[in-house]
Amino acid sequence: MIHKLGVLLMAGLPTLPAFSQGFEAVPASVAPQYRFDLRHDYYKDEAAYAKDQAEARALVDSLQPHRGKVGASGQALFELVSKLERLDTLTSKLYIYRYLLYAADTTLEAKFSAADQAVSEINSKAAFVATELRKLSKADLDRLIQQEPRLAPYRFSLEQNTRYKPYTLSSDQEELLSRLSPQLYSWEGQLFQKLIDRTTFTDLETPAGTQNVYRDRQLLSKQPDRDLRKKALLTLSTEYQASADLFAFSVIKLAGSLNAEATTRGFKDAFASSLFDAHLSTEQAETFFKTIADFASLSRRYVQLKKDRIRKTSGIPDPAPWDNDVVPTGFERPRFTIGQATDALKASLGFHGPRYAADLAELLDPANGRLDIVSGKNRMPGAFSWGFYGAPRVFYSYGYRGYLDDVLTLSHEGGHAVHYDLIDQNKVLPVYASGPQYFTESFAMLNEFATADYLYQHAATKEQKTYFLEQLLDVMMRRFFDIVMRSEFEYRAYQEIQAGRLTEADQLHELWKQEGLRYVGEDYEKHDFMKRGWAYTPHYFTSPRYYINYLFANLMAISYYERRLVDPDFDRRYVELMSNGFPDTPVNLLKKHLALDPFDPATVKGAMKALEGKLNELEALY
Ligand SMILES: [Zn+2]
Repeated sequence: MIHKLGVLLMAGLPTLPAFSQGFEAVPASVAPQYRFDLRHDYYKDEAAYAKDQAEARALVDSLQPHRGKVGASGQALFELVSKLERLDTLTSKLYIYRYLLYAADTTLEAKFSAADQAVSEINSKAAFVATELRKLSKADLDRLIQQEPRLAPYRFSLEQNTRYKPYTLSSDQEELLSRLSPQLYSWEGQLFQKLIDRTTFTDLETPAGTQNVYRDRQLLSKQPDRDLRKKALLTLSTEYQASADLFAFSVIKLAGSLNAEATTRGFKDAFASSLFDAHLSTEQAETFFKTIADFASLSRRYVQLKKDRIRKTSGIPDPAPWDNDVVPTGFERPRFTIGQATDALKASLGFHGPRYAADLAELLDPANGRLDIVSGKNRMPGAFSWGFYGAPRVFYSYGYRGYLDDVLTLSHEGGHAVHYDLIDQNKVLPVYASGPQYFTESFAMLNEFATADYLYQHAATKEQKTYFLEQLLDVMMRRFFDIVMRSEFEYRAYQEIQAGRLTEADQLHELWKQEGLRYVGEDYEKHDFMKRGWAYTPHYFTSPRYYINYLFANLMAISYYERRLVDPDFDRRYVELMSNGFPDTPVNLLKKHLALDPFDPATVKGAMKALEGKLNELEALY
């Protein structure tokens, strides 16, 4: 699967000037090896591809006699489930193969689009199974499993549909909703994009060439010239926020529609519905936000510590939001060749044990054709790992440049790849080979922490040690509290909109300002433009209510990090948990394998203690 978080939060910058003379992130002598070779695990030729496509079409046709009779007998349902399992593997393989080729060479778009369309068509013909399962009650399911005991292992998987029965409307209502759905929920994201597209963002002249205040904002924030940084950020704010009233308008309308649909279905509100999708509850979200608010001072302390540091190392008397990315004068960001990155990953992720280490080594060995990381013409931006059940996963990146961001992305995405490989090797039922994204993300995030921590522990100079610890805190702490703010903001906004108390743009800005004052501090008092900063989150428009998933992922990852330090048996049980796939809800699996409840206030407190410990180390280093 494509890891949204990986792409959005980890992709980093498209280019940064290479300061180190002669540094080659992927040396020219080995570069040709770092390309996908999909002949072995995917298709050796077009004929092989066509053969699988024909099989998938025949298979979905053979399902059609079951239409209207999905719950008719246990035996028939078992047959259906087995065929769907095979169909899913085939369509994933067909789709992912074309996608991987397209990512590495975007001129192959036509072939990818054709595959996309063919696979959608096949899947739509199988969609009736899920719809009909939603009409079965728990008692129906019990009866079917009694008739056909071979269905028993599939119970949890089938329940992913049947558990929606209490929230499913009459056929007429469902049909009406599905017809209206594009009109209700897609214009907000489209309006958001149109508002950005119609805005003329200013180009600024810089020593590194012309840079755009919107497109190149991450580069501009790293400019050594302070006046330039300030001008860039303030210009961006003025131009972007000229649409703030309409950004707010569409979020308020979107929340209104989603709340209305959710309550019609019998949920308390829209968040109750999406949390139910994720096997979570509003009670868990509430408990979490309440507990975490007690640690807001930890986040503000971190912000203050960074400002003091900037004052001392850069001579800026009054650090402002445009100074956040300043590094000490003369400091050069460390870089890693792909060989050095490979060694760092093997060393920092070795704690997972021999099976994990062996698969990681295979992934990173370019001879296996599972990496495609050398920049070039016609490549898709971003980084991801992907694959289908039954073949080793692969990793793609737009271009490995050797910065710490690149190394951490490899550690994160490599974590996904090995995780899914372990599930395959463990012969988990294919229906349990994938799970909720926030759960899989939590494992990948721990990898980032582990790699950054390793580099910090093994740094050659004090300067580098400081840099790596700052980066560790960045991925572990700054990102965490940023996610807390963005998740809680959306969660509270939906509640207020539902209650009829939030109807105007200014009220939305005020809500964001309150989050900012709590978790960042005085900047939100000093700089009025920051209260409209919530609108830089595209998720609010295109994937509403999704952001909170990152929060749970992050919380779990910090909990793993903390447990590892105190429990010598943790690593073994952790890998066992990963290898077993997803035959139950994340909360149940965490309890069973790790005796961990990430929503227990005591767990949250433990996780915050881990952050505080790292912050103390940074303070000592400073
Ligand atoms: Zn990920």
